[in-house]
Amino acid sequence: MIVCRRVPDYDSPALQSAVEEIFGAWEGAKALGASARVLLKPNLLAKHAPEKGVTTHPAVVRAVMEALCARGVLPQNITVADSPGGVYNETLMRSVYRVSGLEAVCRETGAQLYTACRSRAKKADGELVREFTLIEPVHEADVVIDLPKLKTHVMTGMTCAVKNLFGTVPGLQKAEFHMRFPDKERFGGMLVDLCETVRPALVIADGVLAMEGDGPAGGTPRNLGVVLGGNDPYEIDLAVCRMMNLEPSRVPYLAAAQRRGLCAEHLDASALRGDADAAAPVPDFKLPESYTSIDFSTRAPRAVRWLVPGVEKFIAPRPVIERGRCIGCGKCAEICPQHTIALKNGRAHIDPSACIRCFCCHEMCPVKAIAVRRFGLFKL
Ligand code: SF4
Ligand code: SF4
Repeated sequence: MIVCRRVPDYDSPALQSAVEEIFGAWEGAKALGASARVLLKPNLLAKHAPEKGVTTHPAVVRAVMEALCARGVLPQNITVADSPGGVYNETLMRSVYRVSGLEAVCRETGAQLYTACRSRAKKADGELVREFTLIEPVHEADVVIDLPKLKTHVMTGMTCAVKNLFGTVPGLQKAEFHMRFPDKERFGGMLVDLCETVRPALVIADGVLAMEGDGPAGGTPRNLGVVLGGNDPYEIDLAVCRMMNLEPSRVPYLAAAQRRGLCAEHLDASALRGDADAAAPVPDFKLPESYTSIDFSTRAPRAVRWLVPGVEKFIAPRPVIERGRCIGCGKCAEICPQHTIALKNGRAHIDPSACIRCFCCHEMCPVKAIAVRRFGLFKL
């Protein structure tokens, strides 16, 4: 069951009432109280101001804190934590929290902002991963509440409830997973293992100011005016696919979850409660460039389809530096799991031969200087 509410903007009283309704429908809310330790896991990604539409808006985080406190949770037992891309240290986290608006929310409410940046291993019963190193607050919380942003994603098509949990893996250790699982299918399987390990008790997705196009950072903010809540991260993501007109089986982690029987093929629209029409498919919603192209396998004449596996690697979408925009900050080179980006004369250069098309560089570029391109013949 998903509670879906129309919230036109972050100043609207509809936001708090949407969050209240989600808590009212959530069975787990009955177990909350003064001793409960709650982790709020927003999507922070990097240093972005709320109006960019990249990060979970502070007004959503504040509304969730108020709903928790109204149920007896002590502010000092609420922790806000994330590990965005790049290095994971206190200096970086403080600046990310400040720019995202979450530092101010925690200061005003008395909730804890996690800056110690410690992590430790947690056993996993996954198909691909038997142990994850996760940020400390995940281990210490009684309840994890996932607060994702509703966005497109150049590698996975979309990102919301499931993908947001990748931020519980500290800093550059995320790059190790990209190296270990370079193909999208196995990377998706790893994300399902992670989701089953962290298993948030509740998801509240911020789709008020969402993102379309080449998300999760380089796309265009789009006001969808919706908040979604429920206890099943896969079901929330199915609802997002429906809004984006994206076939769930094209999202690698949903496909993996479907194969394991954890996720339906499509959203059962009767699961939507509240303003169900606010979660209706958005006709002109823009998917990432990497998802608007037709697969070579379906476009190629039947007689040459046997060539597909060999050809596909040459025509798959790839990151391309727009040198006129590049400011030479080096963030892409720092994050690249393959170490295939070098700075030359103050500009980034990618050696495409080693690129595994994880698009971490595209996510981290602060000035949108990395585009995602596909061989033109195969575009729609
Ligand atoms: S160049 Fe970009 S897309 Fe390619 S491996 Fe490095 S970070 Fe990933
Ligand atoms: S491409 Fe972007 S992230 Fe890479 S060096 Fe240039 S500005 Fe920085």
